[in-house]
Amino acid sequence: MRACPSCGSPRIHRSRTKGWIEHIRKTLSPDRPHRCPDCHWRGWAIETQEPFEPEEAKPSHRPAPDFGLIDRAVRSSKAPGHTRSPDRTFRAIDDKLKRV
Ligand SMILES: [Zn+2]
Repeated sequence: MRACPSCGSPRIHRSRTKGWIEHIRKTLSPDRPHRCPDCHWRGWAIETQEPFEPEEAKPSHRPAPDFGLIDRAVRSSKAPGHTRSPDRTFRAIDDKLKRV
């Protein structure tokens, strides 16, 4: 949404959801609540702007974990028995230990 459907103002921005019903609607549909600061219109429209609430940002752009750092941390650990999550790093370490 780029302009208020009521007065045409371009200053329209995202609004916070009010209550669980709006929260569910926001979760289930691409619509997001918007508010116009000029005429106080409030309504739902397809999202075209950055989220108004920072916590709405989805964690899809999180950087990948630094496996090198994890590897070094595990290597320097004096208790190598705690390998509860068998990810690539731990498997690689296990292979190295078997070869020794
Ligand atoms: Zn307006």
